[in-house]
Amino acid sequence: MVFREVSHGRTADAVIAQIEGLILDGVLRAGDRLPAERELARNLDVSRPILRDALADLETRGLIVTRHGGGTVVADVTGEVFREPIVGLVRNHPKAAADFLEYRREIDAVAAGFAAERATASDKERLARIMQTLEAAHREKDFRWEAELDVEFHVAISESAHNTILLHTLRACYRLLTDGVFYNRGLLYGHADSRDRLFAQHLAIHDAVIAGDPEAARAAASAHMTYVAAAVREREDEGLRESIAEMRLELTAARLDGRGRRPRRVPDLAAAPSPITGSASSAAEPTAEPEDTP
Ligand SMILES: [Zn+2]
Repeated sequence: MVFREVSHGRTADAVIAQIEGLILDGVLRAGDRLPAERELARNLDVSRPILRDALADLETRGLIVTRHGGGTVVADVTGEVFREPIVGLVRNHPKAAADFLEYRREIDAVAAGFAAERATASDKERLARIMQTLEAAHREKDFRWEAELDVEFHVAISESAHNTILLHTLRACYRLLTDGVFYNRGLLYGHADSRDRLFAQHLAIHDAVIAGDPEAARAAASAHMTYVAAAVREREDEGLRESIAEMRLELTAARLDGRGRRPRRVPDLAAAPSPITGSASSAAEPTAEPEDTP
């Protein structure tokens, strides 16, 4: 039970302060349902009118939402860090994926360092459990599950850092990652070698945090993101090379079939979606075949 009796004054303000604190600390997450009014009033040890006043205030400020027949849930405040217009920009510009990874290389390292310094016994227990589950997913070669737990692991590290600003900005970043805004994680997790390396990197971060070694935790988190950035770039190049090779194959096949020496339309590679970011790539190789290939 995360709600505690309000000790001082039993006012709406005290209730508001407690619920705000739980949202700020990331204990209550978007979509979490608050207990029914009667139960919550009892948990907080306040009267129902006082609780109603507090909830009305929180709802006015967009922190909670009352659903028809579905009770009261914590609003999606994290998603608001990146509003749709900026998400659209990020989605359409591949450079943003590189910027994201650069940002995370630094910020994840800070979070891991703080986590090593500040993780409580409960934090460590939770990290250990996530790591065990991650190991099971890895063993069973369940890519989707492993990729989901990857995010869960990083969220838990950022929570163990006990810095509310880090927590909410990183959570917003991880949300975009889950939504596939930056790159297709399936391409990373689809490679057996990548999966083994990613697992070893998560284990190294975990071990350093559990051991309370901030320096090792920072180094491990930074190395993890450096690897991800390089792997994403490599897969992107591989994918681009493959799509170029496919187009060449098509053109060659058409020529060998005698359907004209020179195709009328050369596919516009620059407009082809990048396999990683799903958006147009600017790093296109020349697409046209040499003038008169013998
Ligand atoms: Zn990771």
